[in-house]
Amino acid sequence: MTESTSLVPDTPINVGISSCLLGQNVRYNGGHSQSRLCLDSLSQFFTFSPFCPEMAAGFGTPRPVMRLIGDPADPRLVYSDNATQDLTEQLQSGFADKIHNSGELDGYILMKNSPSCGLERIKIYQDNGHPHIDRGRGLFTEALVARYPLLPVEEEGRLNDAHLRENFILRVYAHHNFRQEVLATPSYHNLLQFHSSYKYVLMAHSQAAYKTLGRLLAEAHQQPLDELLPDYLQQLMAALASPARRKGHTNVLMHILGYLKKTVAGEARQNMVEVIHRYREGKIPLVTPLTLLRHYIDREGSDYIRTQRYLQPYPEDLGLRNQL
Ligand code: SF4
Repeated sequence: MTESTSLVPDTPINVGISSCLLGQNVRYNGGHSQSRLCLDSLSQFFTFSPFCPEMAAGFGTPRPVMRLIGDPADPRLVYSDNATQDLTEQLQSGFADKIHNSGELDGYILMKNSPSCGLERIKIYQDNGHPHIDRGRGLFTEALVARYPLLPVEEEGRLNDAHLRENFILRVYAHHNFRQEVLATPSYHNLLQFHSSYKYVLMAHSQAAYKTLGRLLAEAHQQPLDELLPDYLQQLMAALASPARRKGHTNVLMHILGYLKKTVAGEARQNMVEVIHRYREGKIPLVTPLTLLRHYIDREGSDYIRTQRYLQPYPEDLGLRNQL
């Protein structure tokens, strides 16, 4: 790999999104919930696939407000001012094709507080008009997550948090890379290559998962490929489910520095250690020690270290590591 080679894919990253977030006038009140983050920033990197389950089900706009009622384990969709008409099956018929055809997506961004699209904390009302203590999911999202449990999903509002945004985008790219590099042409070799490139990403997130997945691959040939690949992806996505902490990143930065023993020695090495410590103390962002390390890696790093996705898990122009 040369200095100019990118670790990020050049194939389109397809991401589903609630239509109202892209500014489409599909909400119950005829309006939208436009997301500047999605429209101005993420749209440069993702190919969005907008979908409004309520419009697809023919409810039209404007339409009466809807809510979920009944058993939290099996909630029903009704109009808020008329609970006698069960709208659940109409909604489910409207989104059935979309669920079926979402296998090419690498992520999904959802509108919060919706009885159709909400990812969590959706109120489910009892007969007495009060919500259950247990909250639920919108019916479309529940079906989406049941059908694609490993698909990275997130509510748009949560993406305003720098750590959650970085984590979601990291997972989207990992999901995409796995589909392109392993599932498209399944082989033990491709899985090992993929795993090798994600080693430091894994190490930053979870030492335990790093070791477990390492062991899984050491014994890979004992398991049929069609069982091994979903098992691996499930464990990978579980390990990446939460943002890596400063301690995990520090550990990886020190490991990378260890690879550069001959290149970065003496005073330069001591300076590098100090920069990593300042990052660990929260005084500078992650991008600072990484930029310095990449400078040395570009000059004299081994192929192994250059192909580590940790160095560039997503396009740099997203600026995500400036805020970590
Ligand atoms: S159903 Fe979903 S996409 Fe449609 S308006 Fe409601 S939140 Fe937005």
